[in-house]
Amino acid sequence: MRIVLLGPPGAGKGTQAAVLSREYKIPHISTGDILREAVKSGAGIGLAAAAFMGKGELVPDKIVTAMVIERMGKTDAEKGFILDGFPRTLNQARELDEAMNKIPSKVDVVIYFETSSKTVINRLSGRRVCKTCGFNYHVKNIPPKEDGVCDKCDGVLFQRPDDKEGTVINRLEVYEAETKPLVDYYAKQGILRKVSGDMGVDDLFSVIFKIFAEEKLA
Ligand code: AMP
Repeated sequence: MRIVLLGPPGAGKGTQAAVLSREYKIPHISTGDILREAVKSGAGIGLAAAAFMGKGELVPDKIVTAMVIERMGKTDAEKGFILDGFPRTLNQARELDEAMNKIPSKVDVVIYFETSSKTVINRLSGRRVCKTCGFNYHVKNIPPKEDGVCDKCDGVLFQRPDDKEGTVINRLEVYEAETKPLVDYYAKQGILRKVSGDMGVDDLFSVIFKIFAEEKLA
């Protein structure tokens, strides 16, 4: 089961990826998470990536693609994976196709989270993340029991710097210009399935579950 989740920031890809990963026992590969880890650890990739991420720009294709191909080659990804936040450019999509052809394998389905800008802005501005375990909350939709404290590990919740207003606008512009063309790219391959990113977590999971059944993936 080789899945790509495509859609704007704040569409709920990460939340669905986490649920799908648990359900189907395949890894959730989030380039955003891998890059944030690299920034935190001060690794070479992190140093190169931090400036782009801080401005809401894309990290260069070469860095991200190499990172994903390495991650996809690990044994836990042999049976499949869920890509969240990759590919984000046509160039990355072509590189992914090439890497899959070499295995040989292919992406089974691309789930496109079509999401209104109202939802996206609301989700991103209210998102809070646990500094320790990375669990995502929302001040209104998924509030923690105690303000600013993670229910799962008592870690401190914070707002991602790139979720602040100025950077969000840039991220959405970058999405429209660089990532949206992938909708067409995958539609032409006949593997694009559209869902509504405006739906709640459980309803959306049911829709995706049905798609996997229709595609005979589950
Ligand atoms: P995300 O958590 O997916 O919203 O990603 C956070 C940031 O990481 C993005 O705004 C980019 O700066 C960077 N990033 C994540 N995935 C990619 C990618 N596939 N290509 C380039 N940059 C990426």
